[in-house]
Amino acid sequence: MTEVLYMGEWKGDESVQNPNYIREFDAKVTKRGETYVVLDRTTFYALGGGQPSDTGMLRWDGEETNVSEVLKKGEIRHFVDEVPQVDEVQGVLDWDLRYAHMRMHTSQHVLSSVVYGMFKARTAGNQVHADHSRVDFQPIKFEDEDLQKVERECNEIIDRGVPVHIYEETRPVLEEKMTEQRYILDMIPKSIPKLRVIDILGVDICPCAGTHVKNTSELGKVHILERRSKGKDIDRIVYELL
Ligand SMILES: [Zn+2]
Repeated sequence: MTEVLYMGEWKGDESVQNPNYIREFDAKVTKRGETYVVLDRTTFYALGGGQPSDTGMLRWDGEETNVSEVLKKGEIRHFVDEVPQVDEVQGVLDWDLRYAHMRMHTSQHVLSSVVYGMFKARTAGNQVHADHSRVDFQPIKFEDEDLQKVERECNEIIDRGVPVHIYEETRPVLEEKMTEQRYILDMIPKSIPKLRVIDILGVDICPCAGTHVKNTSELGKVHILERRSKGKDIDRIVYELL
């Protein structure tokens, strides 16, 4: 089993770095495929949960190769241009891309929470990209002034500089803590007793396996680009961060 470094807990101790900020790591190669390697530890994010895969490099002995994609297929496969024929490598993330995804994913939690708070509309789907993201809400038909209100509320939260904590929580405790958006918890199989939680303090608490920033002040400004109807009672919001 690969130790997933970004899934580590951050207990709010400022001296301990949020594990989502680990950009480089040393690892052992545990398996070689024709076009990929499996490592004993990684901070590369594997495609999933509405967040794209990380990209970057593997380095060894003065050589390096591109990591073009990371996929989870029972194991975490790092797809590379050239499979390293050594036992130890250094992994280096494309940090600009990862950080863009972290900002986008965190802002998606803020947006989903604001829309649920105002309209009780659930997040029916979402996809994060580096330069824009989309979230589908249901049931809702937004008016233009609704979107202005949503944007304003998101940016007020961002401007408050709210800390974002990542930790594991048992289901019963989380059920008590999640006063809003409880439906998200109901969608996760009951067989999973402990969940990784993204807690935007006092704003939103939500189980999520993605990567996130440590404070909303890093998000900049939410700018809604468009609203699109995706069905009778589903509206899609596309937005960017300025
Ligand atoms: Zn998330």
